[in-house]
Amino acid sequence: MRLSQMLFVTLREDPAEAEIPSHKLLLRAGYIRRIASGIYAYLPLMKRVLDKVSQIVREEMNATGAQELLLPAVQPAELWKESGRWDTYTQAEGIMFAFTDRQEREVALGPTHEEVITAIARDMIRSYRQLPLHLYQIQTKFRDEIRPRFGLMRGREFIMKDGYSFHADEASLKQTYADMDQAYRNMFSRCGLRFLPVEADSGAIGGSGSQEFMVLADAGEDEVLFTADGQYSANTEKAVSLPPDAVPSTFKQYEKLDTPNTPTIESLANFLKCSPTQIVKNVLYQAVYDNGMTVLVLVSIRGDQDVNEVKLTNELVKLGDRFGGKTLLALTVPDADAQQKWAAKPLPLGYLSPAVADSYIAKQDKVHPQFLRLLDKTAADLQNFVTGADESGFHVVGANWSKEFVKPADVVDVRKARPGDRAIHDPKQTLQSARGIEVGHIFQLGTKYSAAMGATYTNEQGEEKPLVMGCYGVGVSRLAQAAVEQNHDKDGIVWPVAIAPYHAIVIMPNIADATQVAAAEKLYTDLNAAGVETLLDDRDERAGVKFKDADLVGIPFRVVTGRSLQQGKVEVVRRATKESQEIPLDAVVSTLKQWIADATQSCVAKGAG
Ligand code: ATP
Ligand code: MG
Repeated sequence: MRLSQMLFVTLREDPAEAEIPSHKLLLRAGYIRRIASGIYAYLPLMKRVLDKVSQIVREEMNATGAQELLLPAVQPAELWKESGRWDTYTQAEGIMFAFTDRQEREVALGPTHEEVITAIARDMIRSYRQLPLHLYQIQTKFRDEIRPRFGLMRGREFIMKDGYSFHADEASLKQTYADMDQAYRNMFSRCGLRFLPVEADSGAIGGSGSQEFMVLADAGEDEVLFTADGQYSANTEKAVSLPPDAVPSTFKQYEKLDTPNTPTIESLANFLKCSPTQIVKNVLYQAVYDNGMTVLVLVSIRGDQDVNEVKLTNELVKLGDRFGGKTLLALTVPDADAQQKWAAKPLPLGYLSPAVADSYIAKQDKVHPQFLRLLDKTAADLQNFVTGADESGFHVVGANWSKEFVKPADVVDVRKARPGDRAIHDPKQTLQSARGIEVGHIFQLGTKYSAAMGATYTNEQGEEKPLVMGCYGVGVSRLAQAAVEQNHDKDGIVWPVAIAPYHAIVIMPNIADATQVAAAEKLYTDLNAAGVETLLDDRDERAGVKFKDADLVGIPFRVVTGRSLQQGKVEVVRRATKESQEIPLDAVVSTLKQWIADATQSCVAKGAG
């Protein structure tokens, strides 16, 4: 492609709308254009990057025997009602673009495709002989994200590879899941990314497992915890660890103490000169189930620890039966306004005890009349502990479960693991923290969708069984930007060769110089003919502008038909290292072909990890 004929507009200044380097660079270098909040146009250069990423994804998927198809983006509400997700997706999280068509039918733009694919499986899979089966697509997804940001990282319209596998049993699912783990490692290595597979939250589905693939970068929205021995890595949402040991309590006597102005653990520990590990902190949450029932949840946890709200949500979903709910619509820390809706009198916040009276909850419909009291494991074994006295400005010390306080029957693990904690697999290892961008997620679904939607098959014994399912996603457009986030310098993008829009750019510094022009034209033709995807900067611009643009756009190899032409040579510069070499004209094609092969192969070789 000739730049003179291309839609090629670069910006000098950082666009105000962009906060992180990759977003700024993609805008400045003319890869993307914002059309609306979270909605972007992929310009010609970006389209090529997306096609390359998609092709790598496709090759790795096909190599496992998965088959590509294309599902509709428009989905009928009925399917989502069958799976039970219509309300959560349109109301609770509200992430689905849903609308009513001219025939008064409810429809939505697909944020994901479990329902559609399960409907197809229900119709088409009859027998164990058809299993296992893995179908995938690469398609635009729609999610009305509440906070779209960072360009393609969190868009409201984005490209995803989503695959769904169907099995006769768990063992077969596990096999495909392991194949996907490997396929994903291959894909991300081939794309030239530094990534970390981490254990991930499987939400309320439970299932036997889920893993995310994180591209490590400071701008990542996720925190991952890992150990240096490479044996453990998890999303913080999911991570487990050993808490520090508690300091034995110095309070031998149970008594109530006047502790003015100590609503926080820090202020209380300072006032009492005790360790936060001797305190039982009681945190109030307000949960709303999908049947509209509000439940006030009191989590008692050791003072130095924090509640992991993802783990808490999972526990509350498990306990949903008690309140007639299946899923949670919301989990919040109730502020003063929220408390007014259910509190019979003002609560002594900051001074709550694990036994705070149920009479604080006013009797009314749709509000459970008792606190749901959950005891985190860290607080379950404490002795002679300090906790609130249910009176502003007062605490009790020297308290014990089963003496002064009834021990809550529901003992749970809802504690947030932290950097510095000891690892469970080896307490000599401590957890370290890094930021990550989630580019892939693989998931053992089990029978959640097949059971809800009646997608069954007949097994060898002639019995009808629900299909066992897995699902596997890659954020194709997010991945492309994540690659930039990981690979750039002060001058611009440094594309990994395998996903660069073009391999090489030939620059003629002076378009008035006929020798330069002729040499550049010939190189441009020869390189493209040899399969080296090459741009030609034939614009009427100063050489400096051309070099700056080439750096910004991030094409891996730059060929300049400059002064050394007199010796029959051209300058070839590697974008990543800025190394420059003079190469005889007739060796340019073979040299670049070799460099490209080397660069793409070294990524594959690295793929082991
Ligand atoms: P997140 O936690 O980042 O919101 P998710 O867990 O909801 O993502 P999945 O349903 O697992 O996302 O989707 C599969 C993949 O699609 C993700 O791993 C991610 O790479 C990508 N993805 C999800 N949401 C977006 C988005 N709004 N914009 C771009 N890519 C996205
Ligand atoms: Mg995910």
